Amino acid sequence: MGQETFADRLRAAMSERSLKQADLIRLASERGAKLGKSQVSQYASGKVEPRADACALLADLLGVDASWLATGEGAPGAARAAARPETAPRPTTAHTTQRSSTMREFKKSSKLENVLYDVRGPVVDEAARMEAEGQRILKLNIGNPAPFGFRAPDEVVHDMRSQLTECEGYSDSRGLFSARKAIMQYAQLKHLPNVDMDGIYTGNGVSELIQLCMQALLDNGDEILIPAPDYPLWTACATLAGGTPVHYLCDEQADWYPDLADMESKVTERTKAIVIINPNNPTGAVYPREVLEGIVEIARRHQLMIFSDEIYDRLCMDGEKHVSIASLAPDLFCVTFSGLSKSHMVAGYRVGWMIVSGNRRCARDFMYGVNMLSNMRLCSNVPAQSIVQTALGGYQSVERYVEPGGRIYEQRNYVYEALNAIDGITAVKPKAAFYIFPKIDVKKFNITDDEQFALDLLHEKRILVTRGGGFNWGEPDHFRIVYLPRMEVLRECMEDLADFLSHYRQG
Ligand code: PLP
Repeated sequence: MGQETFADRLRAAMSERSLKQADLIRLASERGAKLGKSQVSQYASGKVEPRADACALLADLLGVDASWLATGEGAPGAARAAARPETAPRPTTAHTTQRSSTMREFKKSSKLENVLYDVRGPVVDEAARMEAEGQRILKLNIGNPAPFGFRAPDEVVHDMRSQLTECEGYSDSRGLFSARKAIMQYAQLKHLPNVDMDGIYTGNGVSELIQLCMQALLDNGDEILIPAPDYPLWTACATLAGGTPVHYLCDEQADWYPDLADMESKVTERTKAIVIINPNNPTGAVYPREVLEGIVEIARRHQLMIFSDEIYDRLCMDGEKHVSIASLAPDLFCVTFSGLSKSHMVAGYRVGWMIVSGNRRCARDFMYGVNMLSNMRLCSNVPAQSIVQTALGGYQSVERYVEPGGRIYEQRNYVYEALNAIDGITAVKPKAAFYIFPKIDVKKFNITDDEQFALDLLHEKRILVTRGGGFNWGEPDHFRIVYLPRMEVLRECMEDLADFLSHYRQG
């Protein structure tokens, strides 16, 4: 193997010692040093090179010369050949039927090697550790409405309770008739073309269905266009399925709309699909019809299918009207995802769905795969499906939150103003959902590592945010704030953030 880059040398040294990324993390923590999962993964994939202290730690763990590892100059060093007892890998495959004094260790599969999910990643682990010590953490990191006082509509809870005894068995693998009928009617209201009951699947949240579709579609090396920044589950599931996520840019200067030229420039012969997240997490953008038409044109020109994640479609503000991209593409194969986690504040009930629409003839075989995987999981949670009809029809309590005077609307306004008032921070105003993705002036704060920024903020102010890199954003110059906590908490956070940034310099 050539060893020109840091990542090459790191991987060569790891492979020579039969050490996996998880081993390095474990060995580091056994020595009381901190090495994050995403850190190691980014070093090994070549996305990021470590700073001197992290490089020295890695060299030490691997038993190689630190300057060889950092620069490639000199020799790996004698220490590499002589495995030191505390870093020697534990057996991975050897096992015996006889009693052995060494405990067999079970490793995660190598399929997970490049999978990242920082929304619940290393900074969150550190916050949990601090909480366990009794510290109070201000959590601006996860889009889970219930802990912030957003309650499920009473009628929804009542109806689930009263139907519980009828939900003891498995349902049809696609879902209950009543749930799918209600979803179909919702699809009609959003003008999705060529939808029928067989093309509607319920899932344990949209999450399960994203995973299912990626498994059904992607062969090793197949490419799929995913936004940067993204909701990272898309990238993670595409990677886990063996596909290659290719990120197209969303343009902050243009209200975070997808950059269509960039999107099209990234299409290759191996590209199978375009993913859009609209309204967007983490930017809060809502795409106008012209942008959606542009995406449809690209999909049409290159014969791509479209996956549209629309879980925030009922949380639009400022009179924005959400348009489903599938409604503009009757001649293409589209899959539209949504659910009740956010619009009905029942993320814990795990209820989502997907709707296939448009030209379904070209995706018969893919749908065969989807059905197979859907059957294999038997069905999604049946009590959760039982409330879909109640939730989707009639009065929508979420509307109160997103209109002037409503909690989400007012909290969005406050956070947007407060962030932009901080010297060195700028943020585009979100139009939907409950996230904002501010930009940090990295020169001013000398920031080169956004995970370190998030950790420093956590340690000093006990504020937990998610770094931009956690959304597959390539530069260390953004972070995401969830503005669901109550106004008093948001005020405290924004004041503390301003104070932190009045003196923070990284490195
Ligand atoms: N899609 C997006 C864009 C999200 O932000 C989330 C959750 O935050 C999901 C999907 C997952 O939703 P569910 O709770 O339905 O699994």
